[in-house]
Amino acid sequence: MNILVVGRGGREHSIVMQLANSGRVSQIYAAPGNGGMEEHAACVAIDEMDIAGLVDFAKSESIDLTIVGPENPLNEGIANRFQEEGLAIFAPTKEAALLEGSKSFAKEFMKTYDIPTAEYATFTNADDAKNYILEKGAPIVIKADGLAAGKGVVVAETEVQALQAVDEMLFAKTFADAGATIVIEECLLGKEFSLMAFVHEGNVYPMIPARDHKRAYDNDQGPNTGGMGAYAPVPDISNETLIYTYREILQKTAAGLIAEGRPFTGVLYAGLMMTADGPKVIEFNTRFGDPETQVVLPLLKNDLIQVLIDVMNGNDPGLEWENSCCTGVVLASKGYPGAYQKSVVLPQFEIGAESFIVHAGTKQAGSCFQSDGGRVLLVGSKSTTLGRATDHVYQALASAGELDEFFYRKDIGKEN
Ligand code: ATP
Repeated sequence: MNILVVGRGGREHSIVMQLANSGRVSQIYAAPGNGGMEEHAACVAIDEMDIAGLVDFAKSESIDLTIVGPENPLNEGIANRFQEEGLAIFAPTKEAALLEGSKSFAKEFMKTYDIPTAEYATFTNADDAKNYILEKGAPIVIKADGLAAGKGVVVAETEVQALQAVDEMLFAKTFADAGATIVIEECLLGKEFSLMAFVHEGNVYPMIPARDHKRAYDNDQGPNTGGMGAYAPVPDISNETLIYTYREILQKTAAGLIAEGRPFTGVLYAGLMMTADGPKVIEFNTRFGDPETQVVLPLLKNDLIQVLIDVMNGNDPGLEWENSCCTGVVLASKGYPGAYQKSVVLPQFEIGAESFIVHAGTKQAGSCFQSDGGRVLLVGSKSTTLGRATDHVYQALASAGELDEFFYRKDIGKEN
């Protein structure tokens, strides 16, 4: 089969690596891809938002299945366009992707279908929003309604911070139209985890849980990022909790989307807080998570392409997972998520047999790789215990010596 992977990050490289192990795949293309993907995929210079270009490419290269990584093309209707052209695509339509594309839609949806989440209210008027904050008190969470690359959320410790966030979103328009409506919600306390599932209409096949680390620095300090590292599975999340999450959150969501006339095909991702009252939804994503994918897919025993085909045909893929743990730590450009330098030659890591490197913001420059983004790559490792997997990752990272132009968190996988 000819497969097209749309995207350029670590998540897409991880998907490509998994596809490369499939007996059913003859050619993998990535659009636009990154430096690391070229080992297994032909990278084609088509932007992920150039939907017409991607449709033409899929037709001319007889692509049998397209897999979409990032959220923006989903909200632009990439799945709708491919389906109109009779092209197979594993991705939700823009109507279903609204679950990620609009936080106010997602909150309203959860209320309608009785899915556990934080209490909330939606505002377009700053005075109303501020009165609500003063009534509820801090801590409280302010969110831009639309897509803001993980930066449109302020967890305000004080009322002053919360009021400032309202001004930034509704007056200074920091997030443009994405912040023209804001959601203000109760601050949930607990430990976060994510559960992704392969979904086709009413059928939901959960993966193993993972834990991302969104803050830039150790001990969850510093600004929010796209994710600085992850591990899977999550030892402090019980089987009971996973069954509850599957039944009360993922299945109800898939059924609710059908009831709304927005049937879902693709990966449904629930970002969750394990509160004293059980798991509650922080957010939905309508695609593979990044960096969760990089630590979940390496533990999948099945052929990924067979899984997607089975799911799309309404058959149970019979998911099987290795009885191991996987840790991944992101190497980022110094300065990220603020300004940083690009085109810096990447450090050399000594990678053992149990470890791997997933590229994100990299490009090939002659015989070496250079940085080309904030999150540069992820060093991952699999082992029988989380502790061992984590040790291997940090040994590999330390093998590069002192890093002047890059940094990574030192505490991923160590809190348990
Ligand atoms: P992403 O990049 O994953 O799409 P996002 O912009 O959609 O992020 P959220 O996932 O909704 O943002 O929130 C980002 C982070 O803010 C969460 O991972 C969590 O740490 C924190 N957060 C969000 N909502 C709440 C809440 N109600 N209570 C406590 N913390 C929260």
